[in-house]
Amino acid sequence: MSESETFAFSADIAQLLSLIINTFYSNKEIFLRELVSNASDALDKIRYQSLTDSSVLDSEPKLEIKIVPDKANNTLTIEDSGIGMTKADLVNNLGTIAKSGTKAFMEALQAGADISMIGQFGVGFYSAYLVADQVTVTSKHNDDEQHTWASAAGGSFTITQDGADAPKIGRGTRIVLTLKEDMQEYLEERRIKDLVKKHSEFIGFPISLYVEKTEEKEVTDDEEEEEEGDDDKPKVEDVDESEEKKEKKTKKIKEVSHEWDHLNQQKPIWMRKSDEVTHEDYAAFYKSLSNDWEDHAAVKHFSVEGQLEFRSVLYVPKRAPFDMFEGGNKKKFNNIKLYVRRVFIMDNCEELMPEYLQFVKGVVDSEDLPLNISRESLQQNKILRVIRKNLVKKSIELFNELAEDAEKYKKFYESFAKNIKLGIHEDSTNRSKLAKLLRYFSTKSGEETTSLDDYVSRMSENQGGIYYITGESKISVENSPFLEQLKKKGFEVLYMTDPIDEYAVQQLKEFDGHKLICATKEGLAMDETEEEKKKFEEAKAASEGLCKLVKEVLDDKVDKVVVSNRLADSPCCLVTGEYGWSANMERIMKAQALRDSSSGSYMSSKKTMEINPVNSIISALREKAEADQGDKTVKDLIWLLYDTSLLTSGFSLDEPTTFAGRIHRLIKLGLSIDDDDEGLDDGDDDLPPLDDVEGEDASTMEMVD
Ligand code: ADP
Repeated sequence: MSESETFAFSADIAQLLSLIINTFYSNKEIFLRELVSNASDALDKIRYQSLTDSSVLDSEPKLEIKIVPDKANNTLTIEDSGIGMTKADLVNNLGTIAKSGTKAFMEALQAGADISMIGQFGVGFYSAYLVADQVTVTSKHNDDEQHTWASAAGGSFTITQDGADAPKIGRGTRIVLTLKEDMQEYLEERRIKDLVKKHSEFIGFPISLYVEKTEEKEVTDDEEEEEEGDDDKPKVEDVDESEEKKEKKTKKIKEVSHEWDHLNQQKPIWMRKSDEVTHEDYAAFYKSLSNDWEDHAAVKHFSVEGQLEFRSVLYVPKRAPFDMFEGGNKKKFNNIKLYVRRVFIMDNCEELMPEYLQFVKGVVDSEDLPLNISRESLQQNKILRVIRKNLVKKSIELFNELAEDAEKYKKFYESFAKNIKLGIHEDSTNRSKLAKLLRYFSTKSGEETTSLDDYVSRMSENQGGIYYITGESKISVENSPFLEQLKKKGFEVLYMTDPIDEYAVQQLKEFDGHKLICATKEGLAMDETEEEKKKFEEAKAASEGLCKLVKEVLDDKVDKVVVSNRLADSPCCLVTGEYGWSANMERIMKAQALRDSSSGSYMSSKKTMEINPVNSIISALREKAEADQGDKTVKDLIWLLYDTSLLTSGFSLDEPTTFAGRIHRLIKLGLSIDDDDEGLDDGDDDLPPLDDVEGEDASTMEMVD
């Protein structure tokens, strides 16, 4: 035996270990699933290597997992003939290199997550310490000598190179758990069998359990004597009372022998007929595949035949993974496992699903791909592209099936709406199909959301299209001035309040032949009666002078000033160009630090002020302006109207201090404070007092006073 080297666990892992050891968890049994799953991963890896170099299997041709309970020594051993670990692997993988999941998992635990989620965070190995107080890992990798890792937690582990006297492993890893005192149940055959059935049924390699067989046998006294000298025969443990027989004396004895019991069914679930697979089977397979602790939300099991053949099982999880939209470098998602003719090729085959469907889990088993396909050649592969097309199609079908159950769909949508919208933005082929999956609150939807199909079914004949408004929240858009006329006319308006809606709707443009019309942008087509049109034309003609004046005052703050028919109660609003950014988009872009300022100013400059000619403020202003073009109060009021419509239209103020100054003057007026008496300078010297305002608002103020 060579000497042991001692290593310290990384701080995170030491902390995780002490949490695992010192906290009470009821669900300790999951340790077996985690270790079997690691064994299976290691077997997958060596099998994958053997596809290009069959000699890697020479060290141990059989690919299998063995479980050995040993009551005499109080140990449970899990052994695989997988790829094994070199000394460096043992040091790095089992203790020194901290993983991002370690911290995340401890936080999740503190937030009440179940211990069984451990696998999702990539630290499943440490679950061994739920049941063991000492763990040794002996491993043989083709590229290194056999080494043993050992630790009783407590901050450190040792690594020893195994000497000539140590039991040898051809290739793979043997994990020996010395069980805690109260964990003897995991040495019981029945318990282990049930656990494998429950959690590891669908592991793609044979799992065998070393079991004790006791057989009762009748032997004659002679036979028994003969046997006694024979070492190879099973030893006699117990001798029953002998029985008198007619001629020879015979005895009943118990023979104890050991054999391997095969525990898992190995026909892969996707090769079975779907009507022969139970919900429990699908759930168990899903869990083994995804490391999820909950059942799946929906499953689709199908095969494609003809020019190209493959089988697949796809799952939708109940919730999004903890790190789905975490940016930065590409995350390792355990989404689709690729098999070729039952041989595992790779986890997480990115080419099989577009980014927006990364939350769909499952397997694909192709009959046509070459076994030795490499990651690099996947990108160019035509077969793979056809498979991908089919998987996307089937996934969308699966979402539609989910949509038939309102409750279930609501949960799905809460978790994955962003993915659907990303899909609408990116996937032009499936855009219209994905649009059917959208749900929004609207002016008519009440407490529930509505689909676009339902919206269309409620549309009136003369409606110009599907109206929507984008904004920060439902509350902020509900009472927007832009909706006044639309509401009055009974046209439904969808509330789009997710930033990604802006991107999705820009690509979508129409649904079911109806144009999507933004209520805050120019060119809002609104159906009108002849009488309404006439009235509008009159008002427009009458207000031409005022429009000109407003444009002169506001100058380049607005692109133009026009008379509007979209407002009912408000005096005015600010709309943006049909193809430019909406107010909401401007807000989103401002919030993004990476904004390119040049394109920002170009996109945000195109605002049109729309005034409501029948509003009392506007008519009073018009009269005042007609009486005296140079009236300073008119100018001041125009600026106030501009600033307030910035706010009600979803923009932010350009110059808050100037705006506040104007409001303060108004407040003083309301409170009858004479500016000269007070001697306060609010920085608005050139503004005249507002005491001669005749508008509606001023009189309200006086009443308050
Ligand atoms: P995960 O398996 O999610 O990466 P674990 O904590 O369970 O996290 O395992 C850490 C690493 O240790 C694995 O990624 C793998 O490289 C290695 N490992 C664990 N068990 C085995 C095994 N039986 N054979 C080979 N390598 C293993």
